[in-house]
Amino acid sequence: MSSSPFLPLPPGLEILATDTIDDLLRVEVVSTRSSSRCPLCFPPAMRIHSRYTRLVADVPCGGLQVHLVLPVRKFFCDTPECPRRIFTERLPLCVQPWARTTTRLGQMLQALGLASCGELGTRLAGRLGIHTTPTTLLRQVMAVPTPPPGPVSSLGIDDFSFRRGRTFGTILVDLDRHQVIDLLAERSTKSAAAWMRQHPEIAYVSRDRGNDSAQAAREGAPQATPVADRFHLTTNLGEAIEPLVARCYKELRKAQAPLPAPVVPKAKEWRQALGPSTHHQRLSRLANNQERFAQMLDLQRHGVKQDEIARRLGVTVRTVQHWNQRGVCPGSERRRRRRSIFDPYAPYVLSRWQQGCRDVSLLWQEIRAQGFPGKIRTVYRFIQTLRHEPVELPAPSILDRVSVQEALWLIARPFDDLKADERTDLEELCQASTPLSTLHLLVQSFGQIVRKREGHRLEDGKQQVAESGLAEVQRFAKGLKRDAAAVLAGLTVAYSHGQVEGQITKLKLIKRMMYGRAGFPLLRQRMVHCA
Ligand SMILES: [Zn+2]
Repeated sequence: MSSSPFLPLPPGLEILATDTIDDLLRVEVVSTRSSSRCPLCFPPAMRIHSRYTRLVADVPCGGLQVHLVLPVRKFFCDTPECPRRIFTERLPLCVQPWARTTTRLGQMLQALGLASCGELGTRLAGRLGIHTTPTTLLRQVMAVPTPPPGPVSSLGIDDFSFRRGRTFGTILVDLDRHQVIDLLAERSTKSAAAWMRQHPEIAYVSRDRGNDSAQAAREGAPQATPVADRFHLTTNLGEAIEPLVARCYKELRKAQAPLPAPVVPKAKEWRQALGPSTHHQRLSRLANNQERFAQMLDLQRHGVKQDEIARRLGVTVRTVQHWNQRGVCPGSERRRRRRSIFDPYAPYVLSRWQQGCRDVSLLWQEIRAQGFPGKIRTVYRFIQTLRHEPVELPAPSILDRVSVQEALWLIARPFDDLKADERTDLEELCQASTPLSTLHLLVQSFGQIVRKREGHRLEDGKQQVAESGLAEVQRFAKGLKRDAAAVLAGLTVAYSHGQVEGQITKLKLIKRMMYGRAGFPLLRQRMVHCA
């Protein structure tokens, strides 16, 4: 049997026999070459010294795990000057001298490891017919050689956090090739500058507007044009104006009419709440009375006499007379107020309630000290009516409907992108507050400069910012001026830092996947090979 199309082998090797045991395919291989070249002196050697076999794991075949039984021969080197007398036959296309997996299986494991993580990759490998362990997989990933980064013309640099903002590293991205070229284990001016110094070909450094990265670029790549990236410009603006929007909200709230105070009854009219069962009884009695009252009126209309009506309704004649006199259904008028032992203390409790005291037990103790002989239940019944007193609330204002964060978003987004209801909200906000309206105009014109890369128009806005009277915006503009060259470059050069942010998102994902095993070298390996 020669090499099979289902399991191709490199030239010089052929399949001798196969044997399937459960999900393992054992493939016996034979070497067809009669000679091998000495690794030191190179001429082919023919004299065989000895033979042995090696068991090497290979790529799976039809879902079966594959073991190659490889014959290995040892040859005598016949070159008299060669220091190597005996050498082992090399199969460079198939397997490295001491490896236990074929080169192609190793590459498969590396791909699995780079695309997933130790645990996940091992599980996935098992499904594909490859038996491995997380440790092997990670070792394979670490064995992938890292080519030195080629010439970098435009560099994106940013920081990322290892552990929720405690320790930071630096990510370096080739903005032309859209690829991570390196990760540094720390976020220091020194290490970043040292890295850049090895690349004097860097022409642009895109960075955030923090002092550290600006300093690193100045030291490490003085020849390069610093570029303050647009992503950070807009983020910085958002951060700068958030307190301003919050302040405007606070002022608007202050100017709003206060909520109407709940209506509190006068002490003389204050009744206690009925218990739930009493309330129920009262309602059913009322319904009963209403029915009998209607019957009475009906019978009277038909000329039935009073004593006959009384007999039919099961009441006394006096009652019928009484109902007639009053002319309304009994029980439908307001309940007469009963006197209560609580009455003398009602004014005091009401005043405490209006002061804001809602603690029934405390109120009870207070009036008990004044001589109230009743139980807490009585106090509770009176208080209950206060709790249920309806309060008419004004319609929710724009401040209740739109949070500070949402307002910030409405102000910062391109006006054309807003939906109809968002525009209405924004207009209402701007009408309510002059500073917000001014802020909206400024932010919109800055946004346009950033989006359309109209760096030359930055100067135009200066006057408006100075006249706006908005301290936060003025402070932001001052900051831009300090970093003017980089800002201008950021608004002219067509490099987008967005891809660096994208890489950081990818990095976070990988970090989460490698949870528990995410040492820096492995993270670096993963990111650099993550094309
Ligand atoms: Zn030799």
